[in-house]
Order: sequence, then structure tokens, then C-alpha cells
Amino acid sequence: MTEGLEGGCLCGKVRFRTTQAPLRTFACHCTFCQRVTGSSYYAESMFPMNAVVLNAGALSSYEHISDGSKKKVFVHFCPNCGTTISLTFERWPEIRGISRGCYDDPNAVEVSSHIWTQSAQTGTALPKGVECFAEARVTLEGQAEPSTRHTAPVMARAKSDA
Ligand SMILES: [Zn+2]
Ligand SMILES: [Zn+2]
Repeated sequence: MTEGLEGGCLCGKVRFRTTQAPLRTFACHCTFCQRVTGSSYYAESMFPMNAVVLNAGALSSYEHISDGSKKKVFVHFCPNCGTTISLTFERWPEIRGISRGCYDDPNAVEVSSHIWTQSAQTGTALPKGVECFAEARVTLEGQAEPSTRHTAPVMARAKSDA
């Protein structure tokens, strides 16, 4: 996997680079991620906080209280063009999420899991061979949740897509 990655926002005011490969990259189908992106889901890489170098002073942020954990999630976006670059978390202060769509080459990283598939929008397909979680990867108490690897692509919401 590529080690250092570079990216930025739509207008180019915000730029970042990473000093290592992501810890993991996942696609999140939770309702927060749907709304914050205005899209179907949010693909995001997780890095140790100090592995991302960015001109943070150029970013605006918004604080949201998570429905699940009741902890704050910080959305970091370009004040000029509105692109969501990064998320940080009260719950995991040592972690920074980077939007996969903001990499100069988004395909340099692979999505290794899909989470919160129970709230995926209709028309969303889950690929084969990727870890899929109905909710988060771990419970609020830190217990690992069960996952499924599909042997063929499947629709996330079988009922409404049948
Ligand atoms: Zn911008
Ligand atoms: Zn999410």
C-alpha cells in the first residue's frame, strides 16, 4: 500500500499529506455520514493524529453530538468551498479520519470494511469479500461486533430492492 498520501479540498485552499498508510479505510452508512456528506455513504481513512500534516488553521469545524455515544464528533471543512476533509472524535482523541474522496488518488487506498449497513440507503450494493458490519465494528463498551463477508455482491437492503 502507498505510504504517504496527499489530498485536499475542491478549491485547493486546504491540503494535507500523511506520513504513513491509513490504519484502515471503511465505508460508513450511518445516518450522520449520509447527512454530513449529503450523499449515500462516507468513505473514510483512519490515521494516528500525528500522521496527518495539514494546514489546520485554514479549516472551519462543526461540533456534532453523536446519537449513539453522546460524544462529540468534529467535522472539519474548507470555509471557502465546504469540502469535508476530516473528522475527529472526542471518543478517540488520538485518531483523525480523512475523507477518501479528498485524496488526489482515492484509489490508492482500499475500503476494507463497510459499517452501519443496517441504515444503508436503497440501491446501495455491498461488495464481496469485504467485512460488513450491521452497526459499528465495536460496541460502545469496546466489544468486537460480528461481521459478514459476502461471497458475491449483495444489495444492502434486500427488502426494498427485491
Ligand atoms: Zn476549499
Ligand atoms: Zn458514519
